[in-house]
Formats: sequence, structure tokens, C-alpha cells
Amino acid sequence: MLTLQNVESGYGESRVLRGVDLEVQSGQVTCLMGRNGVGKTTLMKTLMGLIRTRKGSIQWNHQELASLESAKRAKAGIGYVPQGREIFPQLTVKENLLLGLERNASGNQSFPEDVLDLFPVLASMYGRQGGDLSGGQQQQLAIARALASRPGLLLLDEPTEGIQPSIVEDIRQVILKLKMQGDISILLVEQSIDFVRSAADYIYVMDRGVMALQGAPHELDISQFEYHLSV
Ligand code: ADP
Repeated sequence: MLTLQNVESGYGESRVLRGVDLEVQSGQVTCLMGRNGVGKTTLMKTLMGLIRTRKGSIQWNHQELASLESAKRAKAGIGYVPQGREIFPQLTVKENLLLGLERNASGNQSFPEDVLDLFPVLASMYGRQGGDLSGGQQQQLAIARALASRPGLLLLDEPTEGIQPSIVEDIRQVILKLKMQGDISILLVEQSIDFVRSAADYIYVMDRGVMALQGAPHELDISQFEYHLSV
């Protein structure tokens, strides 16, 4: 389980996260929503240790992460798929996946057949260069690579942004399968209310660096969402 208490971070003089409280229960899909610029990506980067936590606590399975460097957080079982799917375009699909194994928290170097089973399209493009894949396929590869490291917590920053609807649906199905398997927790930044309602166990809506709204999907009413998500 992940617990954030009163987390603050930002860039230079600016404070973006202004006291974030958040919980991700184990085995659940927790979705993070909010308008552009409210701090969602900053929160993901702060969780991963790419931006320094200025204040507050980040507890992951009883371990304090706030002052740990990024590589140690990956070792502790946190997988991260940044916005914009940063795969290695010159490397093959297979090589990209093998890079995920290097960060394997458990030290297990067995090849992730089950990960490929989740993404049949990748299995069929195994020898192709990452850069030859479509945007949606690259996103699937980025998720598969993060899963190859067997994280206990997967951070997904807008995986469906700018991706064709059929692949958005494939990604939704993968998230639902992982949720059914129950051995990974997911924190997902996503803009589509329909997507979130169909995948989330719990939803947070962020506004200007703090959580403005939270609850299980059936507890939240659509007008509350619209208030915090409209521009
Ligand atoms: P979101 O993911 O919700 O769209 P971000 O976390 O990307 O929001 O951005 C939050 C705020 O931080 C915005 O005001 C943005 O302009 C600012 N910001 C983001 N990245 C940087 C950066 N590298 N340097 C300075 N300010 C940044």
C-alpha cells in the first residue's frame, strides 16, 4: 500500500504540490484526474523521485521513500510509465522488454511470457525496432517494459493520450486483467471519465496542487467531476 501525507514539491521557486494526501490500496486501480497544469505529472515524478519531495511523507509498504533516489524506488517495486511513452526507438521490442528486466525488483531474470500474453501485438513484433511501432503500440511496449520489472506499484501517466480508440480499449482490458490478478497496485492518470469509471476502484481529482475530490466511482456524482474538470 502507498500512503502520501502532506506532500509538497515543485520547480525552483514554484510550489506545485501544496500538501497532497493520497492512498493507493494494494491490488487496486486508483485513478488521478484533474485539469491540465494542476500537478498530476508532478505528483508522478515526485513519487518516482525525479523531483525532490520538499515536505511530507511517501510510505510504500512501510518504507519511507521521500528521500530515496529514483533507482532505489524502482528497486523497491515502483514501476513508472511516463507521459509520452519513452521507449528506445533504435532497440527492438525484445531489447526494450529486456531493459525492463534489469530493474526487476525481485532479481528474477526469467523472461516475462505472461507480460507478452497481455500484449499479443508485441509478441508478433518482437524483432522490430521500437521506433517502427505505432504510437499506441509504443505505449503498450512502455507498459509491458514496466511490467517486466514486476513492480508492486505501477504509475501510468496518461497512457491513453493521443492513442487510437481500439488500442485505448486494449489498454483498458490490460488494466482490468491486472486488477483481476490482484498482485499489482496501479495509480493511473487519465482524463476520460468513462475510462476511469470503468476501471477505477477509487478516484482522486486534483485541483491546483491538492486533492479536491475523492471517492469510489459509485460515490462520486458527475456534476462534481464536471466542476473540477471543466476549463
Ligand atoms: P498536469 O500533469 O496536471 O497537467 P504538471 O504537473 O505537468 O500538470 O504541471 C503542474 C505545474 O507545474 C504547471 O503550472 C506547469 O507549468 C509547471 N511545470 C511542469 N513542469 C515544469 C518544469 N519542468 N519546470 C517548471 N515548471 C513546470
